[in-house]
Amino acid sequence: MTRLLAVFLVFLATHATAHEGMWIPSTLSKLVMNDMQNAGLKLSADEIYAINQSSLKDAIVLFGGGCTASVISDQGLILTNHHCGYSQIQSHASLENDYLKNGFWAENFDAELTNPGLSATFVVRIEDVTEEMQKTAAAAGTENAEEALRKKALELEREAVDGTGYKAEIKPFFYGNAFYMIVTETYRDVRLVGAPPSSIGKFGGDTDNWVWPRHTGDFSLFRIYASPDNQPADYSEDNVPLSPKRHLKVNTDGVEEGDFTMIFGFPGRTFQYITSPAVEYILETENPARIAMREASLGVIDRAMEASDKTRIQYASKQSRISNAYKKWIGQNMGLKEFDVIEKKKKTEEAFLKAAMSQKGMEGYSQIVGELASLYAENEKYQNARNYLIEFYYYGPEILRFAAGFRDLVENYDTLAASGKFPEEVDKLFNLADGYFKDYNSEVDRDILAAQLPLFHQNCPDVLTSETLNSLIKNDNYGAASDAFYDKTVFADREALEKALKSKEKKMIKTLKADPAYCVATELLDAYGENVAPAYRSFSNEEEGLMSVYMKGLMELLPEKVNSPDANSTLRLSYGKMEGVKPRDGIAYTPYTTLSGIMAKYIPGDKEFDVPAKLMELHEKADYGPYGKDGELRVCFLGSHHTTGGNSGSPTINARGELVGLNFDRTYESTMSDIMFSEEICRNIMVDVNYILFITDKFAGAGHLVEEMDTVSNPVKKRPQPVHELKAK
Ligand code: GLU
Repeated sequence: MTRLLAVFLVFLATHATAHEGMWIPSTLSKLVMNDMQNAGLKLSADEIYAINQSSLKDAIVLFGGGCTASVISDQGLILTNHHCGYSQIQSHASLENDYLKNGFWAENFDAELTNPGLSATFVVRIEDVTEEMQKTAAAAGTENAEEALRKKALELEREAVDGTGYKAEIKPFFYGNAFYMIVTETYRDVRLVGAPPSSIGKFGGDTDNWVWPRHTGDFSLFRIYASPDNQPADYSEDNVPLSPKRHLKVNTDGVEEGDFTMIFGFPGRTFQYITSPAVEYILETENPARIAMREASLGVIDRAMEASDKTRIQYASKQSRISNAYKKWIGQNMGLKEFDVIEKKKKTEEAFLKAAMSQKGMEGYSQIVGELASLYAENEKYQNARNYLIEFYYYGPEILRFAAGFRDLVENYDTLAASGKFPEEVDKLFNLADGYFKDYNSEVDRDILAAQLPLFHQNCPDVLTSETLNSLIKNDNYGAASDAFYDKTVFADREALEKALKSKEKKMIKTLKADPAYCVATELLDAYGENVAPAYRSFSNEEEGLMSVYMKGLMELLPEKVNSPDANSTLRLSYGKMEGVKPRDGIAYTPYTTLSGIMAKYIPGDKEFDVPAKLMELHEKADYGPYGKDGELRVCFLGSHHTTGGNSGSPTINARGELVGLNFDRTYESTMSDIMFSEEICRNIMVDVNYILFITDKFAGAGHLVEEMDTVSNPVKKRPQPVHELKAK
């Protein structure tokens, strides 16, 4: 065993007694298992993760690209967040069938709605390939290590899935101090089954997002379909509901304060080991710039959505995409400051330096933090430019991305014309335009440009600029620049675009090439490609290399500062318990909220706090069916689990491996946990499973879905079983 690997295992053994950590389920150490079992867990490591028999991990699904879901019936029914299924729900919504406003519930399999592009991925197995990868790197030498690792990874991945329909991917952990191969199986036919109205699924809207007390029924139901022989398949009418290896039982007793719970899912990214200069950059430069850019676009979008139902539906998903991280960054900055994260990081770095200087053979580590600091200072310009590209091009006026989609057509005109394929390509692009214009409002987009332009123009480093854009800005009049841009472009209007595309080929190419949207988009992308990307890439590589050494040093010198590896969208398990928190002086968050709290927040007709009449009626009669407890209906609860984006939709699982809740958020004070987790302060927010069942059954009348689930109740407590009651109806 290499020295490093030994260290890696030691760190697991010394530091597994807190709720911090997103553990790799295939390598749950004895200490993690003991700690969980002491806290109440009734399962063995094999019942959580195994490859020769079904285990809990077989019920956990990567939903689309960035959320989690869990299988909750033997017919492939999966549970995720409303906000994870939001773009699918929105794509099926129209003024006639306003599923955002009214919800959607399929009465039977035939009524379930198909979602092109949506997938559900299971983890088949996770293999530790650290030794092979490290041997490869050592044999290749520093200069050639990267290429050698890439080749080795491809070879191992290919071998691992040969003759199967699986995919394999080797990912670095701890900045390349460990490597795991993740073998997965992806199902490509995932249909929408049920979603509550937004007044439940998004109750509280942006005001309550990242906030406690919380009352959001943030859930939706989908179903995985497979070929008749239960294999992954593209959508087909012949497909049938998946017969899964494993589904979670749904425990209707829920949880009580102090009960052991765990979250199983695919956390996206965390940055727990970054050094103080990196935190300083995020806090003082990156977050403020990105927050300001989003504030500008959200001001426009929010106003427009309020003024028109059509725009509300068109922009719902886009608005959420922008506002979610916007508010998170504000909370993150607040938390980083209040928790004094920079000072805490500096203390660790001092201790690191001291340990390096005082231990024989460790002096090599003493330069590393300083080298990282110089690297960040040198590259700030490129990082800033990259942030502005993301905020302006990818999250700003949509017209830029749309226009850039025509680039291949324009640039490959000669070849396409010679092969006779040009008209076909034009048709293809024009068909795509339909989808684009369905949710596009050129007035809104124009105002977004006008709102973001001053920030972009004045603050983005000049390595990223567009001559066309600069030529439109006269005397800092950004409104006039935006008008001039939109008045001249053909990409803001379906008819104008159609007319341009129907003109003679050469003329069309000339029109597109001169179009301001096309010019600005391609100039920005070119400037990024030429002036920013190479520098940023080499910066990232250098940073990765230095961080890898720093991480190794931390493991060797300060193992007590090392917890689980940063999240990287791979399957992880976090554990903790249901508990409230006192996040700051004078404030206490109780562990759960109830339906009465929804009524207390009710504002008739409000876009965030309106309450459906049926829900009010059920509340008035206290008609909670079997889902109430002690005369109240619980809605959300808090827990001390280490989670991040990507854990959205993750099941909350009790000590016996049964579903008791659905993770969807963190409290405002917890948003810093991507950089520093605090067991005293950080809490994740979950929907109580009884609220999910209540909304599905009593509110929406979709009791057949509850019946389909495998509900259980602790016999000692003798609570009525919802399934029995439904059957008796
Ligand atoms: N509301 C969060 C999100 O959508 C959920 C996951 C988290 O805690 O970050 O990103």
